[in-house]
Amino acid sequence: MTFKDLQLNPSLLKAINDQNYIHPTAIQKKAIPLVLNQFDVLASAQTGTGKTAAFALPIIHHLVKERGGNKIKALIVTPTRELAIQIGENFTDFSKYTTIRNTVIFGGVKQGSQTNKLAKGTEVLIATPGRLLDLIEQGFISLKDVAYFVLDEADRMLDMGFIHDIRKLLNLLPKERQSLFFSATLPKNIINLSSQILKQPKKISVNPLSSTAETIKQYIYYTNKSNKKDLLLHILKDEKINQLLLFSRTKHGADKIVRNLRKKNIQASAIHGNKTQSQRQKALQLFKDSQIRILVATDIAARGIDIEKLSYVLNYDIPNESETYVHRIGRCGRAGEEGVAISISEPEENGYIKIIEKLIQKDIEVILNHPFPQTDKPMNTKEKKEFEKQKLKRKQEFFANRNKKKKDARKKFK
Ligand code: AMP
Repeated sequence: MTFKDLQLNPSLLKAINDQNYIHPTAIQKKAIPLVLNQFDVLASAQTGTGKTAAFALPIIHHLVKERGGNKIKALIVTPTRELAIQIGENFTDFSKYTTIRNTVIFGGVKQGSQTNKLAKGTEVLIATPGRLLDLIEQGFISLKDVAYFVLDEADRMLDMGFIHDIRKLLNLLPKERQSLFFSATLPKNIINLSSQILKQPKKISVNPLSSTAETIKQYIYYTNKSNKKDLLLHILKDEKINQLLLFSRTKHGADKIVRNLRKKNIQASAIHGNKTQSQRQKALQLFKDSQIRILVATDIAARGIDIEKLSYVLNYDIPNESETYVHRIGRCGRAGEEGVAISISEPEENGYIKIIEKLIQKDIEVILNHPFPQTDKPMNTKEKKEFEKQKLKRKQEFFANRNKKKKDARKKFK
């Protein structure tokens, strides 16, 4: 099957050709005809399956046919700024031979340039929920002409606590519209939400979340917590690893990893929620341009970012939710390219590996021969409780200390 068989507008076919897409991916084959035929769609698809084009192409096709106008006719709501920017780039690429314009809005930056762009008129609006509601309240945006509504990464949206924003938004959308709902996973709360948005939807699914792409080779190193830093340096001796996306559970951990790598003259940068939007964009661009070898990211910051031909992903810690593992390693080996996913497990995380293997229904290949084997034992329940207690105590002391310092400083200032 080719894109021509999908009966898309010739200007879209030309743009698709420029992107060097030859065959539609599975989600595109399933979704595009349904969207063209005006059905609501409930799609379960992982990132990396080509889902952006699966909704962007038929929406642009409809808009071209309806001759655009400068009202917002298509609204795409997505959880993160990175994803919003990327979807915007895709719309720009696909609509380059049409007059359809798109605008991307997200929080964390001044609104001026966004509202200026909105004032010029746009047919497609790509937005994160908070900024969208904010600009609606300020009167910069009206949703009354929206005919196509896409809720992207719905599961992540709920994880990030956007449910109230989405409910508010639904009340502002015209009842007559076509809605598309994309989510990597479809647990009960997601199905419930989808039923409030979609009308007699067609359900489609590709690569259920439990499946990791066949093209991704997965390896695991078992080591001790204290050796992770050195093991990482050992792994990085392999010069084949020229571009690595490294996942860290915490922002603090991400910064620490970057500091350690830089000490060894390995170029690395971090992206996470404490970084400004421009810092995040800069780090991502440097990484895409191969100016830095390692991008260290937290899960939320990395969600949805698309790095063409990324071959290596490393889990510096093992996620306690096995779906997160699938999302993480799905950053590499995209659209059929080969990828390698490496994980480093400390004793406390060994149990998570077992759960992940159950979900993906395969054993991850263990690298036995390395200089930092795991010798520590996982803690038993009693030890774990004590450890958590001490950790909490340390945290409380830290905050008490910090508050006291702040108070003292304020007193001095007065
Ligand atoms: P997405 O899941 O939308 O983030 O897409 C993942 C990656 O696959 C992006 O780099 C797209 O440019 C690429 N892609 C999407 N559709 C196709 C296609 N039909 N052929 C080749 N690459 C594609």
